[in-house]
Amino acid sequence: MITDRYGKPSLNRKLRDLGRIGAVIALVLFAAGAFAQERFDLVIKNGRVMDPETGFDGVANVGIRGGEIVSITTQALSGALEIDASGHVVSPGFIDFHVHGQDPFSIKVGLRDGVTSPLELEAGAYPVEAYYAGRAGKSQANYGASVGHMVVRLTKLDKLDLPGGLPLYADAVNRAAQDGSKWSTERTNPGSEERRAIMDGVEEGLKQGGLGIGFPVGYYTSVSSNEVFEVAELASKYNSFILTHVRYLSQIPPSGFLGIQEFLSAAQVHEVPLIVQHLPTNCLGLSQQCLDMLNTAREKGVKVAAEFYPWEKGSSIIGADYLAPGFQERIGMDYSDITMVATGETLDEESYKKYRAEQPGAAMIMHHIKKPDMLAAFNDPFAFVGSDAFPYIDKSGKPLAWDAAYEEGLGHPRGAGTHAKLLRMARENDSVSLMEAVAKLSFYQADFIDEMVPDMRVRGRMQEGMIADITIFDPATVTENSDYPAGKGALPSTGIPYVIVNGTVVVEDSKVLKDVYPGQPIRNPIID
Ligand SMILES: [Zn+2]
Repeated sequence: MITDRYGKPSLNRKLRDLGRIGAVIALVLFAAGAFAQERFDLVIKNGRVMDPETGFDGVANVGIRGGEIVSITTQALSGALEIDASGHVVSPGFIDFHVHGQDPFSIKVGLRDGVTSPLELEAGAYPVEAYYAGRAGKSQANYGASVGHMVVRLTKLDKLDLPGGLPLYADAVNRAAQDGSKWSTERTNPGSEERRAIMDGVEEGLKQGGLGIGFPVGYYTSVSSNEVFEVAELASKYNSFILTHVRYLSQIPPSGFLGIQEFLSAAQVHEVPLIVQHLPTNCLGLSQQCLDMLNTAREKGVKVAAEFYPWEKGSSIIGADYLAPGFQERIGMDYSDITMVATGETLDEESYKKYRAEQPGAAMIMHHIKKPDMLAAFNDPFAFVGSDAFPYIDKSGKPLAWDAAYEEGLGHPRGAGTHAKLLRMARENDSVSLMEAVAKLSFYQADFIDEMVPDMRVRGRMQEGMIADITIFDPATVTENSDYPAGKGALPSTGIPYVIVNGTVVVEDSKVLKDVYPGQPIRNPIID
């Protein structure tokens, strides 16, 4: 039996049937000969095709028709459109589970960074139906969301109407704060009406095809551990999974380590796959210990993985639970390590108190991760990348128009440069090979959830029969250009000249094409 990285039977039909990776490659090359004379919609010529699942790494031509990779061959192919990828890597398009920036400008910036599937699985959405309906035919990249436990709570407890099922937007959190912000402070007892309404909302979201349950309990630590257990039980019933921003962001007790333990036990008892998002953010100086704990859990049969972003500063809202008084000791930083995104203002005690009271939804950037802790995740063979991209905003705090200048986008540089930065780091560090880097940006994500999300079985792979989501980059020069100072946060990555979504070129010669919307929903079947 061919098994995947988690010891489960492989879902890849070719791998399962053929049993041997070498045989797959031989077959791919042989079968392709039959297509040599046919004309394809698109041909990518002479690129270095890399597929982390099979280990295939060689110069080949790729023939695409009807949005699908039909041929990967060393024989000549001809297409209505042809791209010469000499000297470039032809990689599966990057899959990012952690993209809060779901507006057209933020998606565009992500495309320049090679992201073909920017999914919102942390905060998630509710209603899930509204999220998908709002994007059909209008998205340049693929789209998808988890059912957001937090968003359900915001809706049920604060009675907020979230247009389009949109997640964690500053104004929603600010509006809730004006009425006392019940979503983040109210405890709900197991028998209470509110508690049942929240559970029903989460179940409804799963029935509407939500990709897992986003459970960022770190933002509302009033949620009880038995609710965490109850949600895990629900996930299990629907063959779903949980993604979490765990309860504590601290390196002293109660720490991020303890926060992970809570979800790990729920995942183990209910046999629910678990993704621990931005692990170094919560574990800080305990990051290696947290990763070791996940490795031990995996050895005992728990399907769990860590996500990380390759940055030492993070970004979120100033009203976050973990920034409550005493954060200095818990996190190992001071007021002066926090700057506000919209104004660039560095905080002191007075402004910190004012923002938390008056604009808790305002975005901030904080310097809280030490380099060795970020590198621990970079070097972990099971950790994959999630950018945690925030929506870019202008000076007035509003989203930007699609064609706004990149310099106008305010926000953490991770929304623009995470994926190119990881490729650059792999080039500069021997500890992670280029193939592993590609896997951390695409295949590991698809591989983790494809048991629960059938749409993911045909993405994240450069193989015949897979969907043609493809990122073409120059391994010698690819780099992020985004940085922390205002005006640099959204500067696009370079060295990624072509990005293809569902067989359609959407980035051409390093320019995002206007009015091209090849994005498809990544969504689970709807249950009546
Ligand atoms: Zn988070």
